[in-house]
Amino acid sequence: MALSFNDLKLADSMYSYAKSRYIMALDCGTTSVRAIIVDEYGCIVAQASRPVKTMYPKPGWVEQDPTEILASQIAVMMEVQFKSGIHSDSIAAIGITNQRETCVVWDRDSGQPIYNAIGWQCRRTADRADQLVKDGYADTIRTKTGLTPDAYFSATKIAWILDNVSGARELAESGQLMFGTIDTWLIFNLTGGMVFATDYTNASRTMLFNIHTLEWDDELLEMLNIPRRMLPEVRWSSGEFGRVSGEIMTHMPVIAGVAGDQQASLFGHCCFEPGEAKNTYGTGCFMLMNTGSEVVDSKNGLVSTVGIAEGGTVSYALEGSIFHAGSVIQWLRDKLQIITNASETADIARSLSSNEGCYLIPAFSGLGAPWWDAAAGGLIFGLTSTSNRATLVRAACESMAYQSYDVLKAMEADAGRTLDSLSVDGGASRNEFIMQFQADLLEIPVDQTEAVETTALGAAYLAGLAVGYWEDREEIRQNHDLARRFEPRMDAATRKRVLAGWHDAVDRARSR
Ligand code: ADP
Repeated sequence: MALSFNDLKLADSMYSYAKSRYIMALDCGTTSVRAIIVDEYGCIVAQASRPVKTMYPKPGWVEQDPTEILASQIAVMMEVQFKSGIHSDSIAAIGITNQRETCVVWDRDSGQPIYNAIGWQCRRTADRADQLVKDGYADTIRTKTGLTPDAYFSATKIAWILDNVSGARELAESGQLMFGTIDTWLIFNLTGGMVFATDYTNASRTMLFNIHTLEWDDELLEMLNIPRRMLPEVRWSSGEFGRVSGEIMTHMPVIAGVAGDQQASLFGHCCFEPGEAKNTYGTGCFMLMNTGSEVVDSKNGLVSTVGIAEGGTVSYALEGSIFHAGSVIQWLRDKLQIITNASETADIARSLSSNEGCYLIPAFSGLGAPWWDAAAGGLIFGLTSTSNRATLVRAACESMAYQSYDVLKAMEADAGRTLDSLSVDGGASRNEFIMQFQADLLEIPVDQTEAVETTALGAAYLAGLAVGYWEDREEIRQNHDLARRFEPRMDAATRKRVLAGWHDAVDRARSR
């Protein structure tokens, strides 16, 4: 069939429409804020980032300046536009992903925070969280929110601000204060105060949100004496939240995707189906497994959370974290000083043909999931007179894979399903030795993705789907290129032996 001149013109203009439109994703992390621009293939066209300061006013206390976070986020939005020459008229939509649980409280009229942001790592409310357990709230919290009562989640942090900042309680009760996680703080300010909202994934990390009914829960709010009127409206992760103010971006692009960082990463990895899981190997490890429409009640101390809130259905996820993963490599570098760079470790580990019976248990702050033993101590077990630097480096690398194995097996047991493969990202996922060893232990393929910025990409996908930039999840899946697949190849006897060695060492590290 011959094409008419008009057909050709239309095809050409559609082509240039697609080519000239992009999605911007904001990744507001704990140590840095970033802005990236992606095209329709999910390829990063440009990016900019800035570090964010963290303050430790007392032992165990962690704070950040919300104004600095906001100013840095706006600065990188500008920078990425200038760098790429792509300006706001070519941005089809903006997605936001953020460090979760961190709590900001500000004045409705002035927009000024009444206290610093209390960081997710902050332990100042540990006693308050323990008290909730003593008061018998653990089951209610677990049943409604999927979470185990802990200072980590936002709820006790909000209560702390209301109880400790002079005049805060009266202001909150009179409706003068607003609470938000970092997404809400950004949305409110980027829209010039027009939109006060969060999404289901961020809300599910506050310990105030009922993940079954998808609403703020009055009983939980009462438990901590938090006025409901402080809380933002909760929306789907993919949908139009509001337009960026013209003072910040001339053509006022729409914010159309919002998700907490680990959930955005789950989406960026295209873990859309129940049983699909991703593991991020950074300073710590964060694992999420999609459990579909089912909220799994973990028997192993994992938490359940809203995993994906897109397309009119919610998929829940089991989540497990490991406190010390890549940080063990930093410890080798900075404290033991036996390596100069993390990138050396794969070759050093591979220089040995086995672990020589040596295991490193990085219980630097106790053991987390699935052991939950706060008093456990770090341990290096199995040293001999021939042990050397390589022995320790290998044991450190292997410890990331063993710990991930334990959490993933706990997830499989909780969810009653087995993984077919594991998607990975994060700095330490670039270590080929660790990824091969992970595949060997799990006996399933480990998939390294081509895209490095999976978290930001997840936010971009959520925004793009909302405005029709991408049609559906299938189109997104087509962008999902594997960089490398690690197939399991360890023989069964060796796997059994090393796992037994690891679990024996874990037993020795435990406090009881
Ligand atoms: P985060 O987002 O938690 O800051 P990243 O994803 O940037 O972490 O990963 C950084 C962590 O990964 C550091 O703890 C570092 O020691 C570790 N890491 C980076 N590269 C490697 C590597 N090649 N092998 C092992 N660990 C690595």
